[in-house]
Amino acid sequence: PSKTAIGLDMGISKLLTTSNGQYIKPKNSFKANQVKLAKLQRRLSRKVLFSQNWKKQNRKIQKLHSHIANIRHDYLHKITTRISKSHAMIACEDLKVANMSKSASGTVENKGRQVKAKSGLNRSILDQGWGMMVNMLEYKQQWRGGLLIKVNPRYTSQTCSECQHIAKENRQTQSKFECVKCDHKANADINAAKNILSAGHAVLSAEGGCSKGRPLKQKTSDLREKVA
Ligand SMILES: [Zn+2]
Repeated sequence: PSKTAIGLDMGISKLLTTSNGQYIKPKNSFKANQVKLAKLQRRLSRKVLFSQNWKKQNRKIQKLHSHIANIRHDYLHKITTRISKSHAMIACEDLKVANMSKSASGTVENKGRQVKAKSGLNRSILDQGWGMMVNMLEYKQQWRGGLLIKVNPRYTSQTCSECQHIAKENRQTQSKFECVKCDHKANADINAAKNILSAGHAVLSAEGGCSKGRPLKQKTSDLREKVA
């Protein structure tokens, strides 16, 4: 079994960026199906409500919905199985803390801009995908005796993974990270994934240092607050 650890940054154009610099793209057929879905839905809106033609059209939409869901499901299973098999410890952002609805209005760091650019439908599907992905990773790690650690996503995109300096100015564009203190340059997503991995390690070592008495689960949630 693997003993390595990895940090994952979840995004839109790249579904996942890993702390060792790999990208996993979202499934492409997905976009094409969304265009098709929008077309079917526009047609539905022109039909007389609950008429035979409306029902026929509605069935087509339902069929496409389940087709899209199946593709997403299969793809996420493939990705999460591969990652889970290769790494004993996986660190990712805690989506509950990230609060994707807040990020859509641009309050959570830079992700807001990305999310806002996308349509509501697109976004909700992606949100669902992220949550599903984290759930899959969680139970697959449990099966294999590995760990999934959810860390506070705050500052993961503004912190320098080399010198830990936190500044908004470190992030001049969506894709570039340039530390104003130590001049470290990196792809912004890879930098974030590295920070997520470090935060995961911090949670682990803090738990290891005071593991007597209280149940692990309770402490994990306490500690998550401290790992910013
Ligand atoms: Zn730095």
